[in-house]
Amino acid sequence: MLANSEQFLRQKNLIGGEWVDADSGETIEVTNPATGEVIGTVPKCGKAETKRAIEAAQTAFESFSRTSALERAQMLRALHDTIMDNQESLARLLSTEQGKSLMEARGEVGMSAAYVLWYAEEARRVYGDVVPSPWADRRLMVIRQPVGVIGAITPWNFPSSMLARKIAPAIAAGCTSVAKPASETPYSGLAWGALAEEAGIPAGVVNVVTGSAAQIGGELTKNPIVRKITFTGSTQIGKLLIKQCAGTVKKVSMELGGNAPFIVFDDADLDRAIEGAMIAKFRNSGQTCVCTNRFLVQSKIYNKFVDRLAEEADKLKVGNGLEDGTQQGPLINESAVETVEGMVADAVNKGGKIAAGGKRHSLGGTFFEPTVIANAKPRMRFTKEEIFGPLAPVYRFRREEEAIKLANETVFGLAAYFYTSDLGRAYRVMEGLKYGLVGVNEGMITTVEAPFGGFKESGMGKEGGHQGIEDYLDSKYVCIGGLGM
Ligand code: NAP
Repeated sequence: MLANSEQFLRQKNLIGGEWVDADSGETIEVTNPATGEVIGTVPKCGKAETKRAIEAAQTAFESFSRTSALERAQMLRALHDTIMDNQESLARLLSTEQGKSLMEARGEVGMSAAYVLWYAEEARRVYGDVVPSPWADRRLMVIRQPVGVIGAITPWNFPSSMLARKIAPAIAAGCTSVAKPASETPYSGLAWGALAEEAGIPAGVVNVVTGSAAQIGGELTKNPIVRKITFTGSTQIGKLLIKQCAGTVKKVSMELGGNAPFIVFDDADLDRAIEGAMIAKFRNSGQTCVCTNRFLVQSKIYNKFVDRLAEEADKLKVGNGLEDGTQQGPLINESAVETVEGMVADAVNKGGKIAAGGKRHSLGGTFFEPTVIANAKPRMRFTKEEIFGPLAPVYRFRREEEAIKLANETVFGLAAYFYTSDLGRAYRVMEGLKYGLVGVNEGMITTVEAPFGGFKESGMGKEGGHQGIEDYLDSKYVCIGGLGM
């Protein structure tokens, strides 16, 4: 099955240009969530190996930070081409360890390459400033330099593209990195090491370690050599890492959890809203940080919307991501299935009505039926908690202000979507939503050209866009005096 992906199935870690095992020789098994089969193992590294990776990154930084912007842009272009030359193998590997459909996996790998290309272009536009001087004999400027070694920790739901958003701007800025991919999906992370080597990026610029999250994360956050931590994952772990970084006052950027509202007004184009709803809810089996957590639908259109959404959910083809035609793969693990099951039971106990799905799929394992719950109420668990599964609760509202208030009643603030054909309303609602990303009549809006990042407990910092390189740079003010003018 992995015939074409074997070259990327790296069962070792990359530290300073060497592929190595854990000092203890211990490993972690990686399984295919669609079949439960063990795909292979990866090293179970800890503090000591992470420290060595950080030191290797520091050694590489000394020369890499002095390369020209043009050289780094060329390296990133080569990396982009290497990814695209191997898109199919990388997509198969990703689908095998993560479960998503091959179509979505190809899309994710393509997105990774697009981020790399974007930062190849941005590398050459890291401008400083010449500041008008208040002194006749002095000149002032601001230059921008790479922060140094960065630590990057990523989740299992987008194991390729979440690292692309970190490794690519780091290289563009002249930083070196130590990456720690999620234990469930380490191969797409380790593949970045293999790809960087193939693209001719110098040894030590990209290091990848797998293993004990607490030990690796502990060393990355406490070691004073590391100057920035970039994390994508749960809000709970993000808060812990922010605390751990305080001791050495590192820069942090955090892409954390979400609780996206999807508002449908009576005046919306229903066909368009349903199309957007399906993407915004069921993509990656509902396991994305920008997936709709709450559908808020205005009274007049409510019943029609629920019927149409249930009808479309019932049509989704559930199966092994590698099989032709699969639209929804398995959930990542048993605990994810239990969370969704628990939320369905809680909703039904509190008056929710199952309009589609509602239980484990007949395929068994971690497959779950695409589910729609009508009559959702604020007292139900999914109102406050991230679902991270194929479960769509639909709430009813009457007035525009009520919709905005309900949408904002959460500690999260990542993505929000709404559908209306009234231009005035589009502006009012867009401005009223306390979210970092807003889709107006669109259900999927992520693109490399735009800044991605949340408000409130969804995080800080932006990835993508021209803003996405900022956190990898320090601004240095320079005053040149004694010019005798
Ligand atoms: P998670 O449990 O927070 O894990 C994310 C990463 O953190 C994994 O690599 C994990 O390693 C590591 N980790 C766990 N404990 C750690 C510790 N004590 N110190 C350092 N690292 C630690 O999140 P997840 O379940 O993988 O991912 C789902 C979450 O990510 C959701 O909340 C989702 O919304 C969020 N997410 C956000 C974005 C965004 O851009 N805002 C994008 C995608 C996902 P192990 O795998 O080894 O445990």
